[in-house]
Parts: sequence; structure tokens; C-alpha cells
Amino acid sequence: MAKKAVVNTLSLSQPVTALKGVGAKVAERLEKLGIVHIQDLLFHLPLRYQDRTRIQALGSLRPQQEALIEGTIKLSSIKFGRRRSLLCHIEDGTGSLTLRFFHFSNTQLQQLAKGVRIRCFGEVRSGPSSLEIVHPEYELIKTDSIVAVDAELTPIYPTTEGLHQLSFRKFMAQALNCLDKESLPELLFDSVRLHPVADTSLVEALQHVHRPPPDVDVQQLLDRRHPYQRRLAYEELLAQQISMRKVRADMQHHSAVILKGDAHHRQQLLDQLPFPLTQAQQRVVKEILADIQQAVPMQRLVQGDVGSGKTVVAALAVVEAVSAGYQAVMMAPTELLAEQHLQTFKTWLEPLGIKVGWCAGKQTASQRKEVIAELSSGDIHVAVGTHALFQDEVIFNNLGLVVIDEQHRFGVHQRLALRDKGRGSDSFPHQLVMTATPIPRTLAMTAYADLNVSVIDELPPGRSPVKTVVLPDSRRGDIVERVHVACQEKRQVYWVCTLIEESEHLQCQAAEDAATELQDALPDINVGLVHGRMKSAEKEQVMQAFKAGDIDLLVATTVIEVGVDVPNASLMVIENAERLGLAQLHQLRGRVGRGSVQSHCVLMYHGPLSENGQSRLSCLRDSTDGFVIAQRDLELRGPGELLGTRQTGLPQFRVANLLEDDDLLAVMSDAADAFLQTSPERVEELINRWFGHKLEFGHV
Ligand code: ADP
Ligand code: MG
Repeated sequence: MAKKAVVNTLSLSQPVTALKGVGAKVAERLEKLGIVHIQDLLFHLPLRYQDRTRIQALGSLRPQQEALIEGTIKLSSIKFGRRRSLLCHIEDGTGSLTLRFFHFSNTQLQQLAKGVRIRCFGEVRSGPSSLEIVHPEYELIKTDSIVAVDAELTPIYPTTEGLHQLSFRKFMAQALNCLDKESLPELLFDSVRLHPVADTSLVEALQHVHRPPPDVDVQQLLDRRHPYQRRLAYEELLAQQISMRKVRADMQHHSAVILKGDAHHRQQLLDQLPFPLTQAQQRVVKEILADIQQAVPMQRLVQGDVGSGKTVVAALAVVEAVSAGYQAVMMAPTELLAEQHLQTFKTWLEPLGIKVGWCAGKQTASQRKEVIAELSSGDIHVAVGTHALFQDEVIFNNLGLVVIDEQHRFGVHQRLALRDKGRGSDSFPHQLVMTATPIPRTLAMTAYADLNVSVIDELPPGRSPVKTVVLPDSRRGDIVERVHVACQEKRQVYWVCTLIEESEHLQCQAAEDAATELQDALPDINVGLVHGRMKSAEKEQVMQAFKAGDIDLLVATTVIEVGVDVPNASLMVIENAERLGLAQLHQLRGRVGRGSVQSHCVLMYHGPLSENGQSRLSCLRDSTDGFVIAQRDLELRGPGELLGTRQTGLPQFRVANLLEDDDLLAVMSDAADAFLQTSPERVEELINRWFGHKLEFGHV
């Protein structure tokens, strides 16, 4: 009785330590998952479910499926081989399956005898001769007895070390006990419900998702397509959309300097270029200029496929800023790419009397000191570099514009941090972000809701698409011969060694080995090597030699991925292409096909390829359109992985699925408008509910 009374006095706003079974230690672990208050538990949604509510016929099983099964043991035997194992063959009249145990006791050996009925739960996989389950959970069943199955699906929660699923279920049960319409108010007014899934109540949806009733449509729930899950996804997407809007709106309240320079300077740069801008470039430049002539900080993303000519667009914005009397910064994610920008900017801007400075990690102390002094005095107009530009001791005289290249390497939060760093005393710099990762439109809306987006959707004229072939590494000899022929025809070649198990060291080693081997095989050509562990001066030297045509074949690690520009290079070989994501392969391939000759790319793989690997490589062979590839990438790997939070700064969701919930995404912008209009006072609660303290908005 007393216990019950205690439970009823709980409220959702209390810290989790108010729950039975949660002490300081457990609370600490829960906090790692973003769970601080009891309410946070309710928004910690099951990752998936186990279905122990029905016994599956053996004949209906598929690999990778988790299933509850029951059958009679027809044969038990110990198999000796590389690893001793106990194999039990079971049948149920519809089919058969093997249970495999690598560890087993004598008692088990006796128990699991022929004729015994057994019920198991586990993941089915295809074995050498039949489907099997390795180390199933199992119980023996007395013949004739009927053993009940579970009435409900078992939720499996995302967890962290030291927190067991069973504990989760206990805490969740207590939290669910205090969940009702009073404790957790509905935030979606009618005008915000722009999709039928939004009509369900939040409380009902949460109850069902945490504790699916016996009559639930199991398959829907397992597929995350159940209307209750979709109701939650709707609110989650809305919360995300609104939080991004908030970031953007907060920014609108800040001021920025108006960058209106002398159009003559821009014209001077244009006159110097060996090419006219494409229509798309002109349009995007216009959009940027319109932004920076406002007194609010620009927050614009320029999306453009590799080779679409983003650099010159950035340079024009920079000229405008400098001509207006302010400093600008161009930041790239790698030193190599930053160095290339440095060269380009020097070539383009110095004739206009603009002084370009360099700031990167690998600089001597005295060089660094000098640059820092010149930045703070304003002697340097444009600083090019890596994130070293944003260290505390770097102070600008009057920073007006920040350009960040290849945004996919920086996440949303980093972007906010950078914005903060570049902040002046009473105003923010304008911010221009450039990415070559052409993410699909619906995703862009979600990921970059705090930015205005411009797209350079046109390549400069005269480029013919790179022809791509996919070959096994057993054909290495032929491929080397092809490299030879290309070099003899005075064309240049990249040979790219990919990442081995995330180890930069091993990758560099592999590149060194490949360079030696290729030089031995092709003594009459000049082989160069560039990798991440070389000093930047060395790298620079090699790249310059390659650019100048003194090196025929450049063996490289994926450091050349972004931005390197050598128009005479017309063949690229990528070793172990199956290890890389589509987006990355597309970026790499963009290094060739920059000149007027037909370019080729050889994707060399180490077989056998998985089905997914095959699809990925053929997608790349069949398309050179970054948007098509990005969409396919998303389908094959899911937004979480490859486009990758790491790479794009795309948010991770609990229930929403950016691919499958595109119908929800489609109404999200309107729903956010409606929410902000009808319930501005509920914004905080909505965001807090879904993101809690995990979301840092930056101090903007
Ligand atoms: P990315 O968008 O991948 O950063 P870059 O800015 O490096 O592309 O441009 C790729 C190449 O195309 C460079 O050699 C650049 O000078 C050239 N380029 C840019 N714009 C044009 C254009 N309008 N016409 C012809 N070549 C162009
Ligand atoms: Mg670029």
C-alpha cells in the first residue's frame, strides 16, 4: 500500500532519482543518454522490438530475422573442426533449423537430446547447410504441455554500458504510471496537424509505443511504420524544425555590417578570369551579394557538385567584403585544400591589391605570431586556413565575412560555434557555407533549416562526364598497364589508397607500398606520393610537381578527396573502392574530368562484394549526378551512416526516418509556421521535450 502511494506522488518533472531503483550511479548513466527527468524517459523510445508473442513456423524463416520458434530435436551431434560446436537439428513439420552452440556444458549436452521439444529465441542466419541460430535463448518444453507466449512485444531501448534492458523496463513502467493528459500536455493544436498521423494524442502514442498492446499490428511496429510511431515522428520532426528556426530567428536579431563595396573591384576579378561565370554561378553570386548588403548576418549555404566552381563564387563575396573595408576568412577542413585555396586566392586577389594571409596548424611559432599580429592590425585582408583560424589567440581587426568550404566535414554545432568565435563586439560576421555534398532536398530542409540555400546546378561547359568501370583487384595487372598507357600519352593519373580500419598510419603505409610497387612495375614513369602524415611543405611540393606535370602518377591517400585541381589528370584508380561511401567516392572521382579530354575512373574492389557493395559501385558506374548518387546513398545506407552525422551534421532522430517519413517532411515547414503562430509560448516546451539539454543552440 505504502509503495503505491509513493508511486502516485511522482511527477514527470522530478529528477530520475525519484524513481525506485535509480541511485546516483544509475542516474549518471541515464544522463549519458540525455535522461535527467522522469519525462525524458518517456521520450527515450524503443529502438526496436522483439516479437515473442507468436511462434514462427520454421519453414517461414528468413535470415536476419529474430524469431521465437519451437521444434523437436531430431539429431544432436558434436562437430569437431576449427571450433568444436554442438549442433542440434530441430524440426516442426514445416521445416528444419540448426541450433549451434560453441560453448556448452555436459548438462546441456544431456538435455539437448534427440526427441526433446525446445522453444528458442534468437536471430536466424544462414549456416553452411541450413538456417541456424547461434546460442539461442531456449527453454525445454515437456511434451504435451502448453506454454504461453508473451502477450506483448518486448521493447528494446537504446542503452549505454551498465544499464540493462530489464532495468529500463522497470524505470519505464514507473514513468508510464504517471503519464496522462495532465502530466504531459498536448502541444499540437488543430492548425498544426497537417497530416492524418498527427490526429492521435501524444499520450496515447507514447503508451502504445512503450507498451504495445497484444492486438497491435506487429509488423507495422517492427517496421516503424505504425501510426503511433508516426505520430511521434511528426512531433519530433516539428520540434527539430522549430529548433532550427529558432537558431535562425535568434540570429536575425543580431546585427551585421553592411558589405557594399565597389562593383569595379568585382569586375576586375571577373576580367582576369580565363572563363565567364556560368548562369548558375551568376545567380548564386547575386543571392550572396543581396544577403551581405543587409544589416543582419547572412546565413547561406551554397550547394554545388564537385567541379561546379564554388571557389570563384566565394572569391567574389570576399572581394566585396574587402572592398567594403572589412576582413574575410576562408576556412577549409584540411590543410591541403586550404593550401590550394591560398594559391588560388593569391593568384586572383593580389593583383587587386588584396593581401592574403595563411593560418594553419603546422606553422612555426614565429610565422604564426606574425600572421596573428597582421590579422589584428588589419594588414591582412583575407585569411585562408584551417580551423586553426578560430583559435582563441586569433583576433580580427574587423571581420565581415566567414566562408566555410566543404561544410559536410563540419557539423551543425561546430558551425554555430564558429559563428560565435567570429563574433565582433556588437555584430556578427556574415557566414557563407559551401558544400559539395548534394544532399536531397527534403534532407537539406531538415539539416539546414537554419540556413538559406543556393544551388549551383550547372557545371562549367566543356566537361565530359567521367567514364567509370568496376573491376576486381584480380585484374590489377591490366589496370597497371592501363595506367602505363595513359602516362605514355602524357596524361596524368591518380592512384588512391583507401582507409584501412580507420587507421591513418596503415593507410599511409599502404600508399607507400603501392607507390614502391607501381614504380617497380613502371620504371619509365615518374611516381609521386602524397599522404596525410607528410609535412605540409612536402605535400605542397609533391602537389606542385603533379600540377606542373613533373609527376605522371600520383599515389595518394584520401587526402586528395577535396578540392585538388589538376585538369590534365584524366585517370583515377581507387583501390578497395568498396570500403568508401558513395558520397566520398563521388568526391574523389570529381578530381578527374576537369579538363577537356575524356576521363576515366577505375573502381577496383576486393571481392567478393556484398549485394549492397555491388549496388553502390554500380550506382557510381551508372551516374555522375551528385544528387542522384546522394539519393541512392541514402537509400542504401540510411541517413545516419554515410551521409553521416559525422559528415553532414545531419541530426539523428529517435522515431523519425528521413527517408520514409518524407510525407511528414513535406508538411513540416507549414506545420512549423502554424506552430510558431498559434503557440509561440510552447516553443520551449516542445524543444525541451524532444531534445532537452542535449541540444546546444550556441549562445546566439
Ligand atoms: P568546386 O565547386 O568543386 O570547388 P572549383 O571552384 O574548384 O570547384 O572549380 C573547379 C574548376 O573549374 C577550377 O579549375 C575552376 O577554375 C574552374 N571553373 C570555375 N568556374 C568556371 C566556369 N564558369 N567556366 C569554366 N571553368 C570554371
Ligand atoms: Mg571546392
